[in-house]
Amino acid sequence: MPRLSEVLAELNALWPPSRAEEWDAVGTVCGDPGRPGDPALPGASVDRVLFAVDPVQEIAEEAVALGAQLLVTHHPLYLRGTHGVAADTFKGRVVHTLIEHGVALHVAHTNADTADPGVSDALAGALGLRVLRSLVPDPTDPDGRRGLGRVCELDAPTTLGHFAARAAHRLPATAQGIRLAGDQDAPVRTVAVSGGSGDGLFAAAREAGVDAFLTADLRHHPASEATQHSPLGLVDAAHWATEWPWCEQAAAQLDEISDRNGWDLRVHVSKTVTDPWSSHFASSTPALTTNPPGAPN
Ligand SMILES: [Zn+2]
Repeated sequence: MPRLSEVLAELNALWPPSRAEEWDAVGTVCGDPGRPGDPALPGASVDRVLFAVDPVQEIAEEAVALGAQLLVTHHPLYLRGTHGVAADTFKGRVVHTLIEHGVALHVAHTNADTADPGVSDALAGALGLRVLRSLVPDPTDPDGRRGLGRVCELDAPTTLGHFAARAAHRLPATAQGIRLAGDQDAPVRTVAVSGGSGDGLFAAAREAGVDAFLTADLRHHPASEATQHSPLGLVDAAHWATEWPWCEQAAAQLDEISDRNGWDLRVHVSKTVTDPWSSHFASSTPALTTNPPGAPN
């Protein structure tokens, strides 16, 4: 059974914390990696690992129920200054649950976004797209593969409507589903994708000359301006759904590392939907237009 410190060293090699954005909070949140070189403090050991998008209470409890000693999430637990982890706050409760049951928490966020392979490679893979290059390349990568978002092409040209339907079919199901801005019949051959909130990347998508841009969390004004600016089709998926494919990709990477090292780790991916939006009512649903009993008039 490997030491937690050995597993963390491999995770940090996949997603070096130094490549995270300055504002980000990545790395090990809790857990005992011991003190390197000190046999009196060997730290914890690991045989089960759970990957998930969000470090929320139900995921912490899932890790405990699974008997995992390490939870790896994409989103940070604490992003801003923290002065306490009392269990009467929801984040403190997560910390207590994890520590009480010997589960370490490790975060790979923007350092996983820009990695090769990264979050948007997993998203492109889930959508059956061929990755051509990074949308916003990391200037320190001579191969141009690391960076934010990916520019991709489809196996065969399709329409914007069919591409959005494909995303609805292939991404994990959420209440939000898929929203589309643009002409459903517009031809689509090339697509930019960016897991998570991508409305800061409209200019890059336009510059890349793609037909459509799939991301999450598109807001009214940036989306409105982008549709006025050019015919770029916008496909808006649930934030969680665009990042969940990374969990499977990351779990496969750790599985391979485990095999190489003879660790025999059991690596799991949480299927719990932690997107905060839990219901969706289309404006034209008959239930609302027929004014069912109990519905507000
Ligand atoms: Zn995210």
